Parts: sequence; structure tokens; C-alpha cells
Amino acid sequence: MEHSRLFTVGPVMMYPETLGISGEQLPYFRTDEFSQIMKESETLLKGIIGTSAQSKVAFLTASGTGAMESAVSNTFTSDDEVLVINGGSFGKRFEEICDVHGIGHVSIELAFGEVLTSQHFDPFEGRDLAGVLVNVGETSTGQLYDLGLISEFCERNGAFLIVDAISSFLADEYRMDDMGVDMTILSSQKALSLSPGLSIVVMNSEIFERRVSRIRSPIYYLDLANHVSNMERGQTPFTPAVGILLELNGMLRSIAESGVDRRIARTRELADYFRNGVRELGMEIPDYPLSNALTPLLFDGNAKDVYNALRDKYGITVTPSGGHLSNRMLRVGHIGYLSEDDYDSLLAALREILS
Ligand SMILES: *Cc1c(COP(=O)(O)O)cnc(C)c1O
Repeated sequence: MEHSRLFTVGPVMMYPETLGISGEQLPYFRTDEFSQIMKESETLLKGIIGTSAQSKVAFLTASGTGAMESAVSNTFTSDDEVLVINGGSFGKRFEEICDVHGIGHVSIELAFGEVLTSQHFDPFEGRDLAGVLVNVGETSTGQLYDLGLISEFCERNGAFLIVDAISSFLADEYRMDDMGVDMTILSSQKALSLSPGLSIVVMNSEIFERRVSRIRSPIYYLDLANHVSNMERGQTPFTPAVGILLELNGMLRSIAESGVDRRIARTRELADYFRNGVRELGMEIPDYPLSNALTPLLFDGNAKDVYNALRDKYGITVTPSGGHLSNRMLRVGHIGYLSEDDYDSLLAALREILS
């Protein structure tokens, strides 16, 4: 297959260390050695994400949506009502998951370009909500929501806060316990820059004890309590994505060594570098708060042509948009193994295409 430089949001350009690990023969996994690696990854991840050693971690062999479905269906039942923040296709996915599982939900629906503010929460104050579901970085638009606003609402209303941080984790500051998050959803192919296929649910002990451990999972394969009980011995209930778990261990070790703040600062640096270049070209970026994970670029109905020209003539793949935004917006990723030189090439290509 022909290779293109990826400015996507997942899979992304992988680090040489990860590619090295992914090329090796896989070991058998029901061994003490593998359990040790899993326990080490669990500890490293808790440190990097900023949650207590008492929190629980489930490693699921699934894409991010599997972890979203597992989190929602193992925490709430048809007796509950939750609030979904729907500002794009990933917010909508939370609503669809609730529908499939018969979980009642109300929504804050944001139009494209609309910024989430405290006023959006006013109609829901005092309502008996069991939880709030949010994609802190709504990857379909690049908006980064104000997590403080959301967690204060949850605190006032006694609602559990479940955060899909799949694209934001490692790109934007995220400290799970300090920010009042009860459950975090992650996936391997975004800023972790690993192969797709592994997703992670991190739960604090309160949501685990009061909800997850008491609710019977409606999905046999994605039973979080079963995963947590297996992780006590560093194992998973079923054959895991052994290779991606080894990639993960290498990545977590490397982030723990250099510091998570440095990784985030580097992503911000690349995002700022590209955004400055884009403004010099006179291109338009939306004015809502942006995650460092990606930059949305607005077009006048020719986004698909630009996408195709970048791929065909320059060997560059950016992230196309779906639905009503397909010809209005492209998204340029800042996660993965990328450098200023890569953005120079992309900016030069954009300049040629647009002139
Ligand atoms: C990528 C992503 C997902 C998961 O998508 P999958 O294709 O199932 O891996 C979920 N939420 C957000 C915010 C994402 O960016």
C-alpha cells in the first residue's frame, strides 16, 4: 500500500519506538511476565492521567466506540436519565448508545460553531440526572469544552461525569481526579499514537463501587467488572490485543520518563506553529475554543477537492469531514510523530493548491 504523510486524528504517524515494538513476534499472554507488563501499564496510566491508585482500569480489545458503549451500558440502566453534550458526531454517538440500551437522555445540542457555555446547563439544574456524558474534545469539530464548567454542574447536581477524552488526552491538559471526572474513555489510535484496536476505561472507586460493580453488564464481551476483576492479576478475560498492549507499555514508559506536560506542550507547539502558518495564508479557522489535537480549516465548498489534491499530488493525508461539513471543513491533526518540517510541507502544498 502506498504511504502518505498523515495529518489525521487516528491512526496517526507512529513513533519509531512503537513501530519497532509492533514488528516483533508476539509472546503468549497467560504468563507472569505479561501480567507484570499489564500491571505496570495500569500504574503508569493512573499516574499520567492523574487518578488515584484506587481507581480501576479496563483494557478492552475494541475501537473507541466499544469503550464508549461499555462505559455507558455498565454505568446506567433504563431507570436512569443522563445528559449528553451533543456538539458533533461523537456526542451524537453517545445518544445513539443510550437509545440502544434504553437509557433515558436529554441533550445540550450545539449548532456548528456554537460554544458551550454555562447557560446551556441552566435548563437542567436540579433535574435528577444520574450522569453527564461528554467528549471533552469533540473531534468532529475540534472544539475543546470547558471541563470545569461541566464538572461543577455534575458536582452541584450529584451526577457522575463520564468523559470521552479519546482525542484530547495527551494533547490538552487532563487531570482526571482534579477535574472531577469519574470515568475516562481512551483509545489507542489517537494521541497515544498506537495501532487501532485497544481502548481503555479508567474508573474512580466511587463510580466503580456504586455503579459498575452493581449493574449487570448488558454486553457479555464488554463487562467492565469482569475486566477489573481480571486486572487484579494483570490479565484480561479474553485474548487481548497483545501487540497493542506491548506498544502501549512502551509509550507509557516513555511519556512517564519525559513527563506528560512535555508531551502536551509539544502538541500545543505544533498546533500553534501550524495555526500561525494558516493565518498567514489567509485561511479561516473557527473561533470556538480548540483542542491542540487538531485544527479545523474552513472552506468555501471546495474542501473535498483540496483533500484530493493533497493526497494525489503531495502524498499528504489530512482528515476529511462527514455529513453537512464534508465540503466546508478539513481537519489537520497535531497528534502522532510529526514535526515543524511536516507542517512546512503541508503549508507549502496548501499555498500551491489555493493559489
Ligand atoms: C476517535 C474517537 C472515538 C472512537 O472512534 P472509533 O472509530 O470507535 O475508535 C470516540 N470519541 C472521540 C471523541 C473520538 O475522537
